[in-house]
Formats: sequence, structure tokens, C-alpha cells
Amino acid sequence: MKPGTKFIHAGAEPDPSTGAIMTPIFQTSTYVQSAPGKHKGYEYARSQNPTRKALEEALAQIENGKYGLAFSSGVAATDAVIKLLSTGDEVIAGNDMYGGTYRLFSKVFERFGIKFHYVDQFNIDNIAAVINQNTKLIWTETPTNPLMNVADIAAISALAKQNDILLCVDNTFASPYLQNPLDLGADIVMHSSTKYLGGHSDVIQGALVMNDPALREQLYFIQKSCGAVPGPMDCFLVMRGIKTLHVRMQRHCENGDKIAHYLRNHPAVAKVYWCGFEDHHGYHIAKKQMRGFGGMMSFTLKDDSVENAMRVLSSTKLFSLAESLGGVESLINHPASMTHASIPREERIKNGLTDSLIRLSVGIEDVEDLIEDLKMAIG
Ligand SMILES: *Cc1c(COP(=O)(O)O)cnc(C)c1O
Repeated sequence: MKPGTKFIHAGAEPDPSTGAIMTPIFQTSTYVQSAPGKHKGYEYARSQNPTRKALEEALAQIENGKYGLAFSSGVAATDAVIKLLSTGDEVIAGNDMYGGTYRLFSKVFERFGIKFHYVDQFNIDNIAAVINQNTKLIWTETPTNPLMNVADIAAISALAKQNDILLCVDNTFASPYLQNPLDLGADIVMHSSTKYLGGHSDVIQGALVMNDPALREQLYFIQKSCGAVPGPMDCFLVMRGIKTLHVRMQRHCENGDKIAHYLRNHPAVAKVYWCGFEDHHGYHIAKKQMRGFGGMMSFTLKDDSVENAMRVLSSTKLFSLAESLGGVESLINHPASMTHASIPREERIKNGLTDSLIRLSVGIEDVEDLIEDLKMAIG
């Protein structure tokens, strides 16, 4: 089945009691049992909810996996994956990733005695160099946030398998329309469904998808025990978002391509970070494992001062100054003071995330208007 057809039909079964084509929002906390222990598969809504079940079915299908789990946020999904580990275990993560993931790892889980290594995963030797008998998980984000670095999922997966290590890929930036990490050998795919899956900046939610039934049982047990479940209304919204994912992503890619090239040719712009440029160091990997390059990009200005970046950030009219990404509307962001403020400045700069870096989430408006807006703001 082609992706567009799959996105529209995934998980959608007419409601058996009414025939409603859309899965109803089952706004209930509990389910009546006909006798103690005799029920219809639903006992208590932290454990099961029919709206969530339909969404989880859809999540599995769109990532070419067997099982989906929906969480109350992207970081709740990440939290569940790290809870597979125990004190003394080690994780190899990227050195350029979502700031909230870094905060969760370094400020919460390190206190529980889990050790994290942060390496540039573009070069697989950097990963191999820190593997030891305690390494239990590789955490890969590709393309990365906000510098659009790329990691070779198939190569990392081969290395992980040789060493009996789990590989989890944060696929938020690419979305399942552009990249399917399970097909490339990853064990778990993670999403902040808040972004492209929801697609309309109106919901916070996360997802995990996997193939191994034992891993699914462990993660479901953690979810049920720790309680980070999404409400049924939010599940309904994410399911609705998924139905148009392919159409939105096609437009995000088209607009992204045009804006990346516009910025690159702009005399006041120093560097544009976008993995669709043929001279981007990860281009060949991106081309191999992605169906398109998406609408996320970052750039720096020739006048590299924070003041100049602030001037641009506060001048756009269509690009709204906000955290988050992946919605239909275009957003502009200053990672150093917004999404990545939780990363120490020294660490940030060392990895290329400078004070004046500006990140764009290019939306699906008419691209001429978006270019006009940037032209006016950059000057
Ligand atoms: C937003 C985001 C997260 C966290 O997801 P929330 O839904 O905000 O909890 C994780 N990874 C990436 C790449 C993100 O963009």
C-alpha cells in the first residue's frame, strides 16, 4: 500500500456500536464489568482506552512496525525507553539533539546512576569508541535539532546488533512519511507526536513503535506503571493529523527546498544548515534513508551578533516566534535562548550551536509569502 493511502486508513475501523467512521473520543476513566474480572478487554483507562488503541494501531502501521504506544508527551515516551535500563547501564546519545532530551538524560537519569555519552554520530567510529559491556542503548536523532546533522541508521543498527545493544531513533524531524527507522534495523522509533504527526500545533503527545513483542510488553508495563498516558481527545487529534501527513509533508518539503535555496543565496546569510544541499556532509546518507528533506533548517547571519539575530527574530510577520515545529504554520526560533537553553553555553558552542543561530520550521503556506517575509526581516 502506498503511504498516502496508509496514512488515511491506518487504524481506522468504523465504530462497531454505531458505524461512526471516525473512532469516537471515549472520554471515560473506567469500564463496567458484568462480573468480577469479566469485561470487554477494557478495565481502567490508564491501561486501555479504545481511542488510544485505534491511534496506537495507526502509529504501528505508519512506521511499518507491529506495535504502537501513545504517551502523554514526547519526553514521556523517551522517559519510558530509559526506564528499560538499570543503574550502571550506559547510553550513547548524539551531541546535537533536542534540548529536552538532553535535560532528561543529564539532569534526571544521571542521578539514578545511568551514564550517558554524547558523541557526533555522523562518524560511526565515535560510537564504536565508547561501547563497553555496560552499553545498553544507542539513542539516535536524525536529522538533528537544530543543526540538521545526519546519522546513518542502518550502519548504527548493524553496530548495535553486533554488540547486543538496543537502538532507539527519535524520528520526530523526519516524520514517518520521510523516514522509517524500523525498516533500517532500529528496535524502537520515538516521536514527539506534538510536531508533524499532530501537525496543527494543538496537542502535546508522544509515541513509540516497535516490532519485538517482549519489548512491547516491557514498555507497556512501564507506561501503565508510571502513568504517562495521553487523554482520548488528544489521541483523536493525533489520528486526525496523521490522515493528512503525506500531503502536509510534500508541501513542507517543497517549501523547505525553496527557502533553503533562497537563504543560501541571500547576501546577509552566512551558513544554511539543511540536509538537502548536495554539499551537506550528510547528504548521501539523507538521500539513502529519507524520501525527502523536510521543512526544518537553521541559518546564521554574516553579522554574527545576538542583536542582529534578535532583530530578524522579532521582525518576521508570518513566521511566528515560538518553540515547537511541524505545524501547518511557519515558526522561527532562537535555539540558544529558547529550545536549547537547557544545554550549557560552552557545550552548545562546542557543537556549533552559536548564539546567533536561527531555526525555521517552514510551514505549508504559499512559499512566495514566506520568502517575502524573510526578505523583509533579514533586510
Ligand atoms: C519536541 C521534541 C521532543 C519532545 O517532545 P514533547 O512532545 O515536547 O514532549 C523530542 N524530540 C524532538 C526532536 C522534538 O522536537
